[in-house]
Amino acid sequence: MTLSSPIPLAELTTMKVGGRPKSLVRCESASELYEAVIDAWDQDEPFQILAGGSNTVFADDMSELNVILVATQGREIVSEDESEILIRVQAGESWDELVSWAVENGYAGIEAMSGIPGSVGATPVQNVGGYGQEVSQVITQIEFLDRASNLVEIKPAAFFEFSYRDSALKGGLEGVVGWVEFRLRKLGGLSVPMASGQITEHVGAPYGSQLPLQQVRDVVLELRSSKGMVVKPEDPNSVSCGSFFTNPVVSRQKLTEFPEDMNFWSMPDDDYVKLSAGWLIENAGIPKGFSLPGSKAAISQKHALAIINTGGASATEIVELARFIQERVAARWGINLIPEPNLIGF
Ligand SMILES: Cc1cc2nc3c(=O)[nH]c(=O)nc-3n(C[C@H](O)[C@H](O)[C@H](O)COP(=O)(O)OP(=O)(O)OC[C@H]3O[C@@H](n4cnc5c(N)ncnc54)[C@H](O)[C@@H]3O)c2cc1C
Repeated sequence: MTLSSPIPLAELTTMKVGGRPKSLVRCESASELYEAVIDAWDQDEPFQILAGGSNTVFADDMSELNVILVATQGREIVSEDESEILIRVQAGESWDELVSWAVENGYAGIEAMSGIPGSVGATPVQNVGGYGQEVSQVITQIEFLDRASNLVEIKPAAFFEFSYRDSALKGGLEGVVGWVEFRLRKLGGLSVPMASGQITEHVGAPYGSQLPLQQVRDVVLELRSSKGMVVKPEDPNSVSCGSFFTNPVVSRQKLTEFPEDMNFWSMPDDDYVKLSAGWLIENAGIPKGFSLPGSKAAISQKHALAIINTGGASATEIVELARFIQERVAARWGINLIPEPNLIGF
């Protein structure tokens, strides 16, 4: 456990905003992480767990906040046979390095989630997903320090109540993820059936096809890069938290209130549909590249759903733009957009 003199949180987040915290503790083992969190609970002071910082927006004044940085590393193969592999991955490991490793070694189930920044331990928090896959489809169990019991326990996936970009962890379950166990499949170098029309159309294959794992990864990285959704120093449109709002889920009946050309996706429960938040924003009169007068926060040039820091924006500017978008979309479409990133200190 290293106590560093706190650097501004802007340096630890992909949105590049946030002031200097009161303290910063870097934990390199699960035991250090659990100890730091238990200490923080005992001290009864505000604290925040931070890993890759790609889904967190800190306020400009964070001088009262203690930050616990998850920097644990390690992967352990629990079991393997001809059809699948069970692997436990420490929370601080890079998610995309895990995906890349799985693809190289012929393990299927996470290939369409290539290029998502951040850590393995944060993936259960919002049930990370993309291009038709979600981590809840492959998580079997999680080692978790639970505030309710003050114990480190191995919890089954069902304990976390995963749903679209949501889980009990996002909804108030307090604790810290130590490791996540995934079940990946061996399908002869092929992917699981692709549940993303964007991927299958891109390669000219029917929806639901199994494609070579490396091809899926390459296509997803290409599609994501074209939208500024891969963090790259040379892409100013990737200085963001990815999508700033979740796609709203509404009853199918509500579709009658929208123009026929609006974008939406069917849900497993046929009574509901998921609307495109990007479409709602652009069709509320807020174009890509938009910014408020004098502000250094803007909508990405490549994707209406991403708010970016164009260089030196304050956290206040980011949140002002988010509120403006929420108000315009509510006024035009009667829909409340819910922010996807964790907004801390606002
Ligand atoms: C360009 C870009 C594209 C993105 N695309 C996607 C996408 O396609 N799909 C998607 O779902 N997300 C996407 N995201 C959001 C983000 O990458 C994911 O949410 C990711 O899982 C966040 O990981 P992190 O380690 O950076 O989390 P952080 O921002 O560090 O933390 C996020 C939350 O998780 C909590 N947390 C972190 N680690 C732990 C732990 N070990 N135990 C308990 N709580 C913990 C934190 O307290 C915080 O509440 C994107 C972000 C960017 C910048």
